[in-house]
Parts: sequence; C-alpha cells; structure tokens
Amino acid sequence: MILDWEIKKLNFLTLREKNRLLKLGLKTIKDVVYYFPHRYEDFSKILPISHLFDEQKATIQAWLTKITTKTNPKGTIFLIEGTFEDQSGKIKAVWYNQPFLYQTLKKGSFYSVAGKLVQKNGEIFFSNPNFEIILPQNSLPCIHTGRLVPIYPETKGIKSKWIRKTMFNFLNQIKEKLEEFLPSFLLEKENFLPFPEAVWQMHFPDSLLKNKEARRRFEFEEIFLLQLKVFKAKIKLKQRKAFPIPIQLEKIKNFINKLPFELTKAQKKAIWEILKDMEKNHPMNRLLQGDVGSGKTMVALICALNVVFSGYQVAMIAPTEILAKQHYENFKKFLRDFNLKILILTSNQKEHLKDVTEGNFDIVIGTHALFQNKFNFKKLAFVIFDEQHRFGVEQRQSFFLKNEISPHFLSMSATPIPRTLALTIYGDLDFSTLNEMPKGRKKIQTLIFQQKDLKKMYKMIEEEIKNGGKVFFVCPRIEMKEKGKLFPDLRAVKEEVKKLKKIFPEMKIKMIYGKMKNEEKEKIISDFEKGEIDILVATNVIEEGIDIANATLIVIQNAERFGLSQLYQLRGRVGRGEKEGKCFLITHLPTEKSVKRMEALLNAKNAFELAMKDLEIRGPGDFLSKRQTGNPNFKLASLTNLELIKKSEKSVKTILKKDPSLSSFPLLKKMVGHVKIIHLE
Ligand code: ADP
Ligand code: MG
Repeated sequence: MILDWEIKKLNFLTLREKNRLLKLGLKTIKDVVYYFPHRYEDFSKILPISHLFDEQKATIQAWLTKITTKTNPKGTIFLIEGTFEDQSGKIKAVWYNQPFLYQTLKKGSFYSVAGKLVQKNGEIFFSNPNFEIILPQNSLPCIHTGRLVPIYPETKGIKSKWIRKTMFNFLNQIKEKLEEFLPSFLLEKENFLPFPEAVWQMHFPDSLLKNKEARRRFEFEEIFLLQLKVFKAKIKLKQRKAFPIPIQLEKIKNFINKLPFELTKAQKKAIWEILKDMEKNHPMNRLLQGDVGSGKTMVALICALNVVFSGYQVAMIAPTEILAKQHYENFKKFLRDFNLKILILTSNQKEHLKDVTEGNFDIVIGTHALFQNKFNFKKLAFVIFDEQHRFGVEQRQSFFLKNEISPHFLSMSATPIPRTLALTIYGDLDFSTLNEMPKGRKKIQTLIFQQKDLKKMYKMIEEEIKNGGKVFFVCPRIEMKEKGKLFPDLRAVKEEVKKLKKIFPEMKIKMIYGKMKNEEKEKIISDFEKGEIDILVATNVIEEGIDIANATLIVIQNAERFGLSQLYQLRGRVGRGEKEGKCFLITHLPTEKSVKRMEALLNAKNAFELAMKDLEIRGPGDFLSKRQTGNPNFKLASLTNLELIKKSEKSVKTILKKDPSLSSFPLLKKMVGHVKIIHLE
C-alpha cells in the first residue's frame, strides 16, 4: 500500500525536504497525506486593483513596478514596499522585517498577490501579503494566492508556506498512486468523495463546499477505522476459550444475606450480569463503572467468591501497593469464614512469592508490576483490574492471555465513560453500571473560594475539625520548585503544610504523596483512619491510589487545574461515613474554561453528564491523555458526535458480520492496522 511507504526512500524529495518532514513527525506517505491544514485563508476573490476598496482580503494579478526599502541604522532592511499596477490602478504592498524578500521580488515581473488589506491615511495597501510570480511560459496553478489557501500547523520553525509548497509537489507526485480503501458499497451509500479526490480537497480545496465534502469523508473514516479496530479486537477475544463458571446461587445468596448491609439494586444487577457472563466458555471483558463509594469492590468480591467456589483462581490488580493492601484486608475480613488462601503480593512482602509462583492460592492481590513475574496460575479464571484508567487495558490483558484458556476480565472504574467513547475507544468492553449509592450517603456540599475569601474558608475548616471532622487538602504539586523549574501559580504540598501549620497551630497536620516510601504512606493512612490526623495535605494520589473513608471535608487548591472527572473523583473521597461531606474548591487564576468546568461540577446531575461535559469542554485529546499515556491523536472527528458514531457503528457491524478478519478488504485491513489507540495497544 503506497500509504505505508517511508518518505526517506522517496526519490522525488530532496534530503532537506525529507529532514524537515521528519522534523514535523511525518515518516510515511500516510503521515504526510493526513497532515491536514487546520484552516484555510480565503483568497479566492481575484479583483482588479480599482475594486479593492471595500475588501478585507483579496488577490490581485499585477506588475511589480517599483521597490523601495527602509533600513535601520545598522543597515538591515526592516521594511520593503512594492508598488503593483494593473490596467485599473496601483496599490502598495508592505512587508515588515522580511529583508530576504528583497532578493526574491523582481521589479518588472507579473505577480499574483494575496493578503489582508489595511487602510491608513485614506490609502489602502496590502500588509505582508503572499505573492507568487506568474510566468507566461508555464501554467502552474497558484497555491499561495487566488484560492482557498491552506494554513498548516507550524512547528519547530517550519513555516506553513514551506509546508504548503512541499505538500503541493508531494501530492502531485503521488496522486496517481493513491488507492481507495473504503469498501465501495460504503462510498456509494454515503456518497463520499473517493480517497484521492478527498485528499486533494482537504489540502487544496476548489471551494468550501468541496472541502466540506472531503472533511465529511475523513471524519467518518476516522471513527470508522477506530471502531473496526476495536470491534475486531472484541470478536477476537470472544473467539478464545475461557473456563465457564457455574453460578453457585445458594452459596452466594447465603453470603449476601450475612453481609452487614443490604446490597443496592444496582449492585445486585451488576453481580448478576457478571455472573451470567462468566457462565459462558468465552472470556468476559467487562467494565464495572460507578462513583467512588458505590460499592464496586463488593461486587467484585462476590463474583470472585463464586469463582473460588468452583475451584478456580482469582487475581486482582490494583494501581498502587497501598490500595492492594486495602483490598487484601477487605477480602480477608469479608471472606474470613471460608478458609480461603488469599495472598497479597507487594514488593516488600516477598514471603508469599513462593506460594504465588507455585500457584498455591485462591485469590491473589497485587500491583501490575508484580504480575509480570513468572507465575503459575493453575486455574486462573478471573482477573479484576481496579481503577482501570491507570493503565492500558490490552497491555494488561496480553499478559494473562498467554495461556490457551483465557481468564474472564473485569475492570472497575470510578470515571464514567461517556456514551460516545463507550461506542468507540471502549467498544470492546461490555458495561455494568452502579448508578446508585448505598443508603445513607448524602449529597456533598460544594463551595468555590477565591483568594480573597480564604480567611472565611479557614474559619470553616477550623469549625469542621472542632466538630470532629477530618480534612483532606489537595494540591496539584509536591514542591513549588522541581528540577530547577519554578511553578509560582501552583500550590505545593510541602509549602502548604508549612502554611497551614501557621494558620492552625493546634491541629495535627501531615502530608502524603506518591513518591513517599510505602511504609511511610501506610503509617499516615492508618493514623488518619484512626483519627489521629486533622488535616492531611496530599497530591492527587488520593484520587485513585488510596482509599480513606473517614474524611469529611476535602479542600482542593488550584481547582482550575484539575479535570472535571478528577474533581468529581476527589470530591467523592469524602462523606462516606455518617457525616455529610463537604468540598471546598480554591481557584487562583480561573480561565473561562475552568469556570465552566466548575459550574458543571456544581450543576451536574450525575457522573455521566459530567464526563460528557468534560469531554466537550476539554476535547478528547485532553480528556484521554490525562488517564492514558500517549495521544490518541484524533484529528478531525469529534468523539462527541453521537450521530456520526452510530452511523459508523452500523457499517462496522455489517462488515464484520460478513468478514470478521477483513480478508476481502486488504487495504482497509491495513489501514485498521495503523490505528493507534492506547486503550488497545
Ligand atoms: P468503590 O470501590 O466503588 O469506591 P467500595 O466497594 O470500596 O466502593 O465501597 C465503599 C464502602 O462502602 C466500603 O466500606 C464497602 O464495604 C461499603 N459498601 C459496599 N456496598 C455497600 C452497601 N450496599 N451498603 C452499605 N455499604 C456498602
Ligand atoms: Mg474502589
């Protein structure tokens, strides 16, 4: 496929051109072809000079009749002024600080000139216009003037104009060889422009209408390829074998009846969905989503118990050692009546290593890193990932897929996946949702404070603690200064502790952050849980990595710096006990976006609505890369466009039904192979 060719092997490019394209990150023909302009300058109006008066921008075709320059005392040219004439009149063009143009402009030549028109002292002139010479002997089309001119994202000193010129030559060299890869029935049905034509209309559109047509194709294509990739992966996983796990209904009911609380309806429904799914002899791949405190762990625990009842093994993977330890304690506590071998695997608990390696356990809990070792899972049937956003799903699964028989997978996340993402990048998953909190949980009172209100806020904190409350104080950074770089706008844990100790001399104030030693962290957490710490200053480690139930107030510094879902997660850390939870958001230099975000947080009815807002306000790149390394690189299609996504989904399903391996669409298959989603890779 020509799109796969590496540009370094192309002989129509000079070495300099290759190097500059590489500098832009473009390695293959596909990369170059898909390096779309981010906008267009409309210079398509070509007018006689005498008609320019009412125009903001336009193109003229005229003779350059005069050039003058102005130089500064050092002798460098800082201004070039050219006079252009056609049959209808004269106009000046002025270029500032571009002395090199003096060499290029040729007095007496015929030019196409396009740019913005400026009016000064009753005279109009072009300011820094584009220009290109029109030679009588050749008929090359204009690319910088007289048309919709593509403007490319400039990086690393590479100018849009250079990219435009290079792109034009490049596309002319390869355009005959570009092949359509979308199935023809789809092209016909949707009435899409064929690939080569669409490429051309993206870079050098004949009209806005044509450009829109091209964009419609590429937007669809982007979602379509992505969905093909995701759904193909789903089919592939479903073709694997898994241990079918019978539902031990009586035993499970019995266990549930003995719990100190009643399960929510949502929990019961989720448990049922999961158990039903695991009865099949193909692996489950399911996401359990629910707010912090909605009781996901209990759902996982009950399903794990059902697996163990049938004599199979369970592995649970937590994002941090501390959380692994908390799960371990929890599992031991709730499952103490069953004489099960439950193991924890953390870096400082080597004593279980032998048992784990020999496969001598019912349930093993640990962090991901530890599962990379050689293990003997004799009958591993169920793998639970807690807080699934922390690492890519497929990456984690691949480890467990080494055996011929695959385990069932359950991921748990407190961040709701917006519906559009569930149909695209998370389309390989089935979903269970806990849309209900256990009884007795109250709404969390949320207040926003600006710098001038801080005194009032400190009073409220004092009151909270006097009434027996415990406080989290979250800062975006650990230190103000890091590797010699200063972050003056951001609050840091270490500085904040000092400050708070001055404000509240009587209070017990401690800090916690990810980089601290594990023993140290564990000590602080257990002290906090015992009620021995009044204020715990933390980074957002507490967002996902640590679960402490007895805080009543969470204060978030630089709230404008956190994503909406992050704020939501953080806020969910309080108010899980008897007392009503409170959340104070401190803003520093709120931007329009951040104000919108916080308003959304105050007004949101539920977490899904919030996640969708977050996606809309921040855009998919930002939304995703906060949780996943790498950039999913969605160039065009909006991952919020439900209509488009559904349309694409229909086509994807039609194709995969007929040809799940895409063997009759070899080019399409190649394109799907190029799709990169961190979630899947
Ligand atoms: P999540 O993992 O969804 O944040 P957890 O499973 O850790 O939530 O549950 C939070 C707390 O609520 C735990 O202490 C758990 O034992 C308790 N819990 C779970 N389900 C219920 C329920 N139905 N009613 C009351 N408390 C519950
Ligand atoms: Mg949890």
